[in-house]
Amino acid sequence: MKKITMPMTMIQRLIFLCLLCIATLDAANLHYSLIKKESSQAGSTLLIIGGIHGDEPGGYFAPMLLAKHYKIESGNVWVVPNLNFDSIVQNKRGVYGDMNRKFAKIEPKDKDLEIVNEIKKLILTPKVDLTLNLHDGIGFYRERNLNKDFNPKAWGQATIIDQQQIPSAKFGNLGDIAKKVNQETNIALIEDVHEFNVKNTNTKTQDKAMQQSLTYFSITNNKPAFAIETSKNITDLSQKVYYQLRTIEKFMDLMGIKFSRPFELSQPVIKKLLEDDGTLEIPPTKIFLDLSTLKSSIRFFPMDPTKLEYKSNNPLVAVIKEKNVYKVMNGNQVVSTLIPDFIEFDHSLDSVSIVIDGKVQKVKIGSLVTVKNDFSVEPIRGYRINVIGYSKHGVENESGLKIMQKEIMSNYAIDKQESTYMVQFYKDKKFCGIVTVKFEDAAKSKK
Ligand SMILES: [Zn+2]
Repeated sequence: MKKITMPMTMIQRLIFLCLLCIATLDAANLHYSLIKKESSQAGSTLLIIGGIHGDEPGGYFAPMLLAKHYKIESGNVWVVPNLNFDSIVQNKRGVYGDMNRKFAKIEPKDKDLEIVNEIKKLILTPKVDLTLNLHDGIGFYRERNLNKDFNPKAWGQATIIDQQQIPSAKFGNLGDIAKKVNQETNIALIEDVHEFNVKNTNTKTQDKAMQQSLTYFSITNNKPAFAIETSKNITDLSQKVYYQLRTIEKFMDLMGIKFSRPFELSQPVIKKLLEDDGTLEIPPTKIFLDLSTLKSSIRFFPMDPTKLEYKSNNPLVAVIKEKNVYKVMNGNQVVSTLIPDFIEFDHSLDSVSIVIDGKVQKVKIGSLVTVKNDFSVEPIRGYRINVIGYSKHGVENESGLKIMQKEIMSNYAIDKQESTYMVQFYKDKKFCGIVTVKFEDAAKSKK
């Protein structure tokens, strides 16, 4: 299990390290992240679990934003934004079956076994006072049957409890808490039909399926747990994430957990925040990418065939090998497809000298430089330089050449704006790293 305890001053710089190891036969490929946001002020601890179902994005983009942007001032919040990560990147409920039906009994060969056992342990940690399990459910839950979307069988827009209370447990008044939380959420609805209601599944006596769920596991161990369900019928992700965060905030209020966030909680703001896909760093290539600007497909991307290792500041980012390409995912969304050049790596080069608009600069391998008019990479003995998309007849090594944007073929750019290009460094046939060059004011200089 990856544990990331985060000093609060480092929120923006938080890097989630993801390692895609060669999976053992019986385990999931991708592992979830656990982000512990702990304050120096004593208080209650809330555990938030997102992504138990991979096709319910409201349930995992909300905790991702919380992990990335919220600061906890008193008490603690532990966030697992991507519990069923293999299913999230495939946008499926559960690639190895329904994970939320494996908490009462699980087969020893089940691929979810390791994750389910770990998360059970986490729920039972004495410090954890309350657990939230986040979902998108069908329809809009209503006590009475109104029509096919609004009825007692629906799950959406509801706070779910397994029973009215857990006697003697701290925060054991499940029914009262759910009602209070919903009252607060319902004050600021985007549409009136989105109102939240409390759905009591009376799991012990009435719901065999829910007896195998994560929340009921917690309840039977005398620990409060709730499910928050936004509606699958709401198609705008930012609306679902808005409701999830609003509801989570009310739980924090009731638990006395103080927090702050650097934005106003409203649907348009959430929409903007969700447009940021985060960063991707692939250590062997030393490349650092801003995923939001990345083109949908990039050719000649150097990859090490023997291992795949990457980092992102977004815990929902994963790089998945699929046939002959790598897909860069943000949750269930494909950000880009990398078409690899499989190549042996050499790590002897740390920095290079580049003349940028007439001025010499020392540039670290892996970094991004901004250029107004032209650049030229100073020759390094024993190394070859290849500017992807630039070709001058008969020239194999492009070091020392003054290069302008109009001399590079724009379809080799790596960003949507077609202003950023890869400069690759080689020692013999081995690959040493990349510097990305971004031309400022791309539209103007193209004329
Ligand atoms: Zn679900």
